[in-house]
Amino acid sequence: MSIAENIQRIVSQLPASVRLVAVSKTKPVEALREAYDSGQRIFGENYVQELCSKHPLLPADIEWHLIGHLQTNKVKYVAPFVSCIQSADSEKLLKEIDKEARKNDRVIDVLLEISIASDGSKFGFEPDDTFLFLKEGRYRLFPNVRFCGVMGMGSFSDTESITRIEYRTLKIVFNKLKAAIFKNEDAFSEISMGMSYDYHIAIEEGSTLVRVGTSIFGERNYNQ
Ligand SMILES: *Cc1c(COP(=O)(O)O)cnc(C)c1O
Repeated sequence: MSIAENIQRIVSQLPASVRLVAVSKTKPVEALREAYDSGQRIFGENYVQELCSKHPLLPADIEWHLIGHLQTNKVKYVAPFVSCIQSADSEKLLKEIDKEARKNDRVIDVLLEISIASDGSKFGFEPDDTFLFLKEGRYRLFPNVRFCGVMGMGSFSDTESITRIEYRTLKIVFNKLKAAIFKNEDAFSEISMGMSYDYHIAIEEGSTLVRVGTSIFGERNYNQ
């Protein structure tokens, strides 16, 4: 199947409340172009250098989401153009995003990455820490950051019940944050969860953004 056919097949399965992030890490610009030509507008990349080299070669109306772990010293490279940083996983990083957004006269959308994987293999705020940081109101010190929701990665597990519990946890964290902190902020509305092999489960558990790579572009080859 072609990239365009894969995208059509996936999009046709998504409820209207769910948007597709095409995860294009390691894939050449031509593959992204093919996805773009079939109507895809949101692309997710993991690595700053790769994102910065692809961005100028592709149309300006693409929404670039950074989904990989971001080091504070690299925020400056993506701040001029990134649409959303989904992997905001520390207060220090949020502070840097705010600073670089201000320099570029922008407000940058972020998702709070929450650690939900039971195998402990991922980055992210511990759910309780997120609360503390937000409850104390320190996030208000970052006016050039717009808090748009949460993001999570499940365990490397093919056990459906584990994945489901993890995604359910993320939805609960979102609901709590929404009720306690962001009740009046319409922007706080996204739950980014679900990848190629489990996006159906994620949608059932309340995802609004699915991040799909392999099922669109095929397997990745990191040695190329
Ligand atoms: C690579 C990646 C994805 C996509 O994974 P696939 O299994 O290829 O769909 C989604 N989210 C993050 C954070 C990733 O790093």
